[in-house]
Amino acid sequence: MVEKLYVTYNDVHKLCQEAAPKILNDFKPDLMIAIGGGGYVPARILRSFLKQPGSPNIPIQAIGLSLYEKLPNSGDKDVEEAGTKVTRTQWLDMSALGEMSNLVGRRVLIVDEVDDTRTTLEYAVRELQKDVEEARSKINSDKKTEFAIFVLHNKDKQKKGILPEDILKNHYHAARTVGDEWICYPWEATDIDEHDRLAAEARAKKGL
Ligand code: 5GP
Repeated sequence: MVEKLYVTYNDVHKLCQEAAPKILNDFKPDLMIAIGGGGYVPARILRSFLKQPGSPNIPIQAIGLSLYEKLPNSGDKDVEEAGTKVTRTQWLDMSALGEMSNLVGRRVLIVDEVDDTRTTLEYAVRELQKDVEEARSKINSDKKTEFAIFVLHNKDKQKKGILPEDILKNHYHAARTVGDEWICYPWEATDIDEHDRLAAEARAKKGL
């Protein structure tokens, strides 16, 4: 059986709170792009902690990417198995953004819950960079769009996906680095009390 790590809503909240000053110090995003569904809740919580007095809230755009599918024979109903292909289920809302050119020169923070094989993040960064570059050359701008990444958990393992060196070195934030275990997030729980009980039990076992 795969080792499981139970993460509560409180844990998520505190991980975002802890990461926010580092992200502000490093990057000061003016737009967030949440990868759904796991990036939505962290992005919303993070936004409260990134808010600067006198400045408006940072807008959140959503994109939907899907790599994992529930396979009927995976042995554990909670654990999903990796697909090999990223499916785009939703892209940027152009009615809200106006035109893609509105992304030119922005500082964009991409938010997801977990960096596992990195396939999803590689896809998101590559496709967003491609769209922005196209828009930039159309309007003949020399303004660069910068990308940064925030995830709650990065699994310390051999990655399949590759991220641009600059992002990885300078603008990659993972609130926690964990082993190759299955992380159970609260928004996936069908019984949140049982989920919280299992999280508390694991914490007590570790003497925390
Ligand atoms: P990657 O492309 O990095 O392999 O996987 C990213 C996506 O896979 C995540 O956004 C998430 O939906 C799913 N995923 C990978 N590992 C886990 C995990 O341990 N727990 C949960 N709940 N989802 C995971």
